[in-house]
Amino acid sequence: MTIPKGLLDALRASQRVCVLTGSGVSAESGVPAFREAQTGLWEQYDPHELATPEAFQRDPQLVWRWYRWRRELVDGVEPNPGHHALVTLAGLVPELTLITQNVDGLHQRAGSDDVIEFHGNLFQNRCFVEGCVVDDADLSLEVPVCSGCGGMLRPGVVWFGESIPESAMNDAAAAVSGCDLFFSIGTSALVWPAAGLADAARQQGASIVEINLDVTPLSSETNFCLQGKSGTLLPELIDCLAVQ
Ligand code: NAD
Repeated sequence: MTIPKGLLDALRASQRVCVLTGSGVSAESGVPAFREAQTGLWEQYDPHELATPEAFQRDPQLVWRWYRWRRELVDGVEPNPGHHALVTLAGLVPELTLITQNVDGLHQRAGSDDVIEFHGNLFQNRCFVEGCVVDDADLSLEVPVCSGCGGMLRPGVVWFGESIPESAMNDAAAAVSGCDLFFSIGTSALVWPAAGLADAARQQGASIVEINLDVTPLSSETNFCLQGKSGTLLPELIDCLAVQ
């Protein structure tokens, strides 16, 4: 795929770029999206039934086993060329804010700074009772407990039905409100409120760029819609930008 000249011009003229990523960006690293089948032991479970406060209350051991499996999976993979290209892109424009729905920390491992983690982080532990982050958890316990109140600890991710952390919501809204170019990359544009960020950006005048393997509800609303793998298209975009 050739990167449209109009997109390169828009990027060169842009003062503030905002990028929203989803699980598709990590797919080429080997982190499965929720929509993909779970493998091995977890094949029989639907993530939508594990990643909820109700599931955790019902069976915290099961939910922790699933998150330990996900932590091990992510520990064993590396950022891919798409993650690295976004680090490069941040150095080529005056300002770039990266908002991710991913909880895997791969953007940070690639070298992205100040990432807004819209859905939290897989490796963080939070008190289920008080909500605070706990750094000194004894993770050898089947269900780790809070060193402060003794309540159960939970993974620091946003589960289905839960609110986005206030600081992430505010930071994302601020980034969107001033941007002139908004990228939606590897996200189905179906999970709210993240899916509303592109709309907010467009309403205040930003051009919208989508990079996705498939067509999404956002595709028809974009200025530039690039269909393909982010791990291929993002490095290609960087290469094209380098050519005058
Ligand atoms: P999603 O699973 O709903 O959609 C993924 C999108 O990525 C799809 O539209 C798919 O076509 C596209 N895609 C797949 N491979 C791609 C590639 N190589 N290049 C470009 N696009 C590709 O993901 P979502 O929109 O992020 O929302 C699902 C929720 O699942 C989020 O809340 C997220 O927090 C969570 N989640 C995160 C991870 C992770 O941290 N890596 C993994 C699974 C789920």
